[in-house]
Amino acid sequence: MSKNPVLFPDGQTVPAIGQGTWYMGERNSDVVSEARALRHGLDLGLSLIDTAEMYADGGAEKVVGQAIHGRRDEVFLVSKVYPQNAGGQKAAVACENSLRRLQTDYIDLYLLHWRGGIPLSDTIDAMEQLQREGKIKRWGVSNLDVADMEELWSLPGGSDCMTDQVLYHLASRGIEFDLLPWCQQRSLPIMAYCPLAQAGNLRSGLLDNQSVRDIAYQLGITVAQVLLAWVISRPGVMAIPKATSIDHVTENAGALAVTLSEAQLQTLDKAFPAPARKTHLDIV
Ligand code: NDP
Repeated sequence: MSKNPVLFPDGQTVPAIGQGTWYMGERNSDVVSEARALRHGLDLGLSLIDTAEMYADGGAEKVVGQAIHGRRDEVFLVSKVYPQNAGGQKAAVACENSLRRLQTDYIDLYLLHWRGGIPLSDTIDAMEQLQREGKIKRWGVSNLDVADMEELWSLPGGSDCMTDQVLYHLASRGIEFDLLPWCQQRSLPIMAYCPLAQAGNLRSGLLDNQSVRDIAYQLGITVAQVLLAWVISRPGVMAIPKATSIDHVTENAGALAVTLSEAQLQTLDKAFPAPARKTHLDIV
């Protein structure tokens, strides 16, 4: 049985695994194969695509634009605004530029990429304005820890935020101490970025870990599928792995059908314990 979809506070649902795009659009020669990989993901039901104006300086959004051409209705499109653009007229221009590159007239979910110098209240105003104009359907944030989320919630309209996109993988579990329960209490889904720890590059040894490998062997699946199945085993958490290899995309979609047993989850807890105290929010 496939893992249940993840629910946003406004009732919208998305599959628990989506597709990231960081590092796509860097080289013209790769654009066709990158767009093909994203379309393969759409064919397999990975309908959420995550991008940002930052990635390849707009290049990733152009790849997404090519990938979703003629298929806009199948896609739940997420993009992000730079902090320095997240207010007033700059937000209007940034969103317009993203829409042009994405070849669409609306973004399903528009995120503040990280917190910068612009007051959160200005960002809320800008997001609400874009919503009124129909350019974005909903908005959220990224890389905000609990104190920032509390501040956001204290502001008029702040609790209309639909998600917090943060780094989360088996070897980086800091959010479980406070941010994840904070969001779960408010039925706010977490979008886990770097769910594969960038193919293990962020945490050496993760992909070679014996417990992870044993579970992959027991279930007849890959190590990456164990890591993704673990991320989405948490209530209200979706994962957005990036893959340009068609085989990787197929594997990632397959992880939706993987359920880890209690014993397997306990084994992973032992190998990568949950945090016992507050840690700084992990970022890349
Ligand atoms: P990921 O953890 O998703 O790792 C991506 C790497 O894993 C790529 O090298 C990819 O290879 C490889 N990979 C993908 N699937 C498999 C598989 N099944 N088996 C083995 N290797 C695999 O890292 P990202 O940094 O890309 O994070 C995911 C997405 O999250 C980003 O693309 C971006 O959209 C978002 N993000 C958001 C941030 C934020 O600040 N809000 C920060 C960082 C990321 P290949 O491409 O060759 O298939």
